[in-house]
Amino acid sequence: EHLTNQIAAGEVIERPSSVVKELVENAIDAKSTQIDIWIEEAGLKKIKVSDNGQGIYPDEVSLAFERHATSKIYSQEDLFRIHTLGFRGEALPSIASVAKVTVETATESLPGKMLRIDGGTIVEEKTYGTRKGTSITVESLFFNTPARLKYIRTLQTELSNITDIINRISLSHPQISVRLYHDNNPLLRTSGNGDLKQTVAGVYGTKVARKMMTIQAENLDFQISGLVTMPEVTRASRNYLTIILNGRYIRNFQLQNAIVDGFGSRLMVGRFPIAVVTIETDPLLLDVNVHPSKKEVRISKEKELTGLIMEAIQSALKDKPFIPS
Ligand code: ADP
Ligand code: MG
Repeated sequence: EHLTNQIAAGEVIERPSSVVKELVENAIDAKSTQIDIWIEEAGLKKIKVSDNGQGIYPDEVSLAFERHATSKIYSQEDLFRIHTLGFRGEALPSIASVAKVTVETATESLPGKMLRIDGGTIVEEKTYGTRKGTSITVESLFFNTPARLKYIRTLQTELSNITDIINRISLSHPQISVRLYHDNNPLLRTSGNGDLKQTVAGVYGTKVARKMMTIQAENLDFQISGLVTMPEVTRASRNYLTIILNGRYIRNFQLQNAIVDGFGSRLMVGRFPIAVVTIETDPLLLDVNVHPSKKEVRISKEKELTGLIMEAIQSALKDKPFIPS
């Protein structure tokens, strides 16, 4: 059983940022409005995610660490129609099999619970009075799987993977207040008031947010809205292009290219804008590849969509004079 979990961990939990992603998505699924993330040494020493969500019932806490014990709807075909991000019940057992994990959780009505698990074995369990919500602390990641540790890049790279994921998650949930700290330094703080521009300000700073323009376009199949920087505010990497499809961020090269192409010759070669593009569509047009990360999605009528994204950007640019930097 431990071995099965460690093997599964190899698929789901490749690096510190995978742990952060799974814990934060669980917090979102639990209907949290405040999520705090503390990272130490790029997550290798410690990752702590605290939320104010619905919590776990005391007699279900240890169950949450058993394989395939998801409390969420299980539906492979309808992933984009269900509202939770998790669906396989693999993340917690996988994480617990390769780290030292402490859970503190309480629901609205029942006494809370604390559980400690080392490398998949429960070492402590007790009643623990706490406010509604869940804190999960993951320490000594990969302490018992040295092979995994070899794949870890520099701390700088691991940390930038973490901030990249937290940026995208924060941008796709403007109604959740997110705070991220690394070695006690605040890295990100969003207001959670639902406003996209203020969320962008929390993620990339007010300077960037002020230099963004609204984009908007729709046809019978797609509705597009969002914020993109003016052509003179650019970055050297694609990491600042966030695409949110029906409420979740996705990675899609074609759609990212459409944003860049929309700027045409007003963008320097090799430079990218900062953009948050939100797309709403009928789930029937989507085919979700059931990879654990769930970020790959096939879109029928993709050509139509890329055209519409380009149009949205071109029409926003029309009345913006070129300002050489
Ligand atoms: P999944 O998200 O696919 O259901 P996980 O292994 O990520 O599987 O989590 C297992 C279960 O633990 C969840 O289904 C949920 O019931 C519970 N859980 C995990 N994290 C939280 C949290 N932050 N708040 C409330 N419940 C949680
Ligand atoms: Mg999950």
